[in-house]
Amino acid sequence: MSMHTFWNPRTETLDRPGLERLQAAKLRRVVAWAADRSPFYRQRLADAGVTPADLHTVADVTALPLLTRDEWMAAQTASPPYGTLPAIEAHQAVRVHTTSGTTGREPLRALDTRKDWAWAAEMWCYGLWGAGVRPADTAYVAFGYGSFIGFWGLHYGLEKIGALVVPGGAQDTANRVRQIVDFGATVVASTPTYALRLAEEARALGVDLPSSTVDKVILSGEPAGSIPATKQLIEEQWGARAFDTAGMTEVSTIFMFECAYQPGGAHIIEDHLLEEVLEPGGDTPVGYGELGERVVTSFGRSAVPLLRYRTSDLVIREPGSRCACGRIFDLYSGGVRGRVDDMKLVRGTNVYPRAVESIVRGHPEISEFQLRISREGTRDEITLRVEAGRADDGLRKRLLDELAQAHEGLRFRVEFCEPGGLPRFELKARRLVDDRPEMVPAHV
Ligand SMILES: [Zn+2]
Repeated sequence: MSMHTFWNPRTETLDRPGLERLQAAKLRRVVAWAADRSPFYRQRLADAGVTPADLHTVADVTALPLLTRDEWMAAQTASPPYGTLPAIEAHQAVRVHTTSGTTGREPLRALDTRKDWAWAAEMWCYGLWGAGVRPADTAYVAFGYGSFIGFWGLHYGLEKIGALVVPGGAQDTANRVRQIVDFGATVVASTPTYALRLAEEARALGVDLPSSTVDKVILSGEPAGSIPATKQLIEEQWGARAFDTAGMTEVSTIFMFECAYQPGGAHIIEDHLLEEVLEPGGDTPVGYGELGERVVTSFGRSAVPLLRYRTSDLVIREPGSRCACGRIFDLYSGGVRGRVDDMKLVRGTNVYPRAVESIVRGHPEISEFQLRISREGTRDEITLRVEAGRADDGLRKRLLDELAQAHEGLRFRVEFCEPGGLPRFELKARRLVDDRPEMVPAHV
């Protein structure tokens, strides 16, 4: 370990008491700011009877009420377009971004001031630098630069580091592959799904990515960057190391990153974010090594304070000392492991999309897949649809066996699709289609 490993050597190597004192001071400051400036929090903190002076240590964060996405959305709907959470007037902001809205829900709209935006870039710098990105790098950003926040912060983080940035923008995959080669990119940023799509396109174009200049792929936007089989496939197909990061529009930037030591998890940026892990849907904290729901308090965004936001992300927290890099920051082992609401019940068996993806990615001949749940009569059926050149009975049997073994014997169906027959994704892949009619409660 050398000091050169860290973006911020001072905070990344604090001891735990020092880190917690810093967090407590930042917590008091952000709560005072929110109570003073945000109509939503002023009311909510008054109702809870909490003042900044009550927050002596980080543990006192539990005195604050939890915030749900529905509450944020209700505040937005009641007072459009930005709702009552902002602590500033819209004209004081320099940016507005939205959630991707791919889940069919109305997107959240989040404002940022100039200072907030500088902070968002700074958070990305922790991750980019930690992965080994340096001023000499040329970075290709495979991203459409729309209103979805996506890789915007990464773009500014790269500039802040001093790397040369190639903004991919809206163009087709073949052109992006050509630009990666033409500019001699050493770093590529994309979603895990799109990293595989770029590799597929490169093969079609006769471009040998493993012998290209690219040596790092920065992943974000989907949890698959920490699914070992997916990550390994990306690393093989690119001949580069892949690093997972995760962020959210509600925070404005990333909250975790995988360091160059690749410990099988990602470090939480703890000097800027206070993360709790609670029983999913409940309010009891769970300990190291236990699966729970992420709850985040951000110290960095002044335009929209975020206090104890329930993310629905499922994580397992472990001490930072499990990684050899020397950071104090704790890890989310295995990254974001799923969402509180993405577990599906099929004929009495739990199905997690992540587990299915792990199996699929163990078969590199599969270029795309989809999981479809339907109801036939009264019986639920679950079908894995794959693109793998042509139908192959050996592959079908291996998939059926592995799927059944991972799901208490649940029988799936496996269906082969025409090449290009399944949807491709650039952002936030949606591979689970649940066609079952809504359950109607029997006793109403
Ligand atoms: Zn580390």
